[in-house]
Parts: sequence; structure tokens; C-alpha cells
Amino acid sequence: MKDCIFCKIVRGEIPCSKVLETERILAFNDIHPVAPVHALIVPKEHIPTFMDLPEDKMDILVEMHRAAQRIAREKGIAEKGFRVTVNVNPDGGQLIFHLHMHVFGGRKLTDAMG
Ligand code: 5GP
Ligand code: ZN
Repeated sequence: MKDCIFCKIVRGEIPCSKVLETERILAFNDIHPVAPVHALIVPKEHIPTFMDLPEDKMDILVEMHRAAQRIAREKGIAEKGFRVTVNVNPDGGQLIFHLHMHVFGGRKLTDAMG
């Protein structure tokens, strides 16, 4: 998608602080972190929201969760705890309409959105 921020990051047109990359996904640090560790995991393919995932592409969610586990281990927050969140549509707090998973931790998370 031409004007999508996360597609631009995937294409390398906007810089990011990369955390990990596979053939199908990219993870990078959130530009406005809400916790000491705050990474975003995105599919390289433009999928607007969680609700736009067809049955035959659900396996991308497995890969995104696997990446979340790796990030939590590598950032040293796996044992103490962290949160994995997918915001969906405006009431869900989604601002960028390219599917992404937040992984955040490194401090005690209190309320629903940390
Ligand atoms: P949402 O509210 O859509 O679930 O989350 C979007 C996230 O993307 C926000 O936490 C925001 O800080 C982050 N973000 C927005 N623009 C950029 C950017 O250009 N680079 C990075 N690394 N993160 C961004
Ligand atoms: Zn996109």
C-alpha cells in the first residue's frame, strides 16, 4: 500500500529500529514507547486489521506470536512478564491500519492498556 506508514517501513522508505525479521514479518521498536520494551510486529503484507485476516492467512498470527516470544526472551522480560496486544479498529485504539502486534514490558503494567 503506497501511503501506509508500516508498508513504507517494510520497504525501507521510512527508517526503523529493527528488532527481528523473517521472510514474512518485521519487528521494530515503537517510536513512542509506553514501556522500556515496546516493539511492534507487522506482517510484510498489507493487511489492514485483524478482522481482515482470511482463514488461509491465519498462520501469520502464529508467526507473529512466535516473534513475540523471541523478542520477550531476547529483551529479558519473558520471566517477569509483558503484554501482547492487537488493537482493532477505532474503539480498539487502532491508529495505523496495517495489522500489528504490540509487545511491551520492562515495567509493572497496571491498567488495561498498560
Ligand atoms: P496502534 O494505536 O495503531 O495500535 O499503534 C500504532 C503504533 O505505531 C503506536 O504505538 C505508534 O507510536 C507507532 N508508530 C506510529 N508511527 C510510527 C513510526 O513511524 N515508526 C515507529 N517505529 N512506530 C510508529
Ligand atoms: Zn501497510
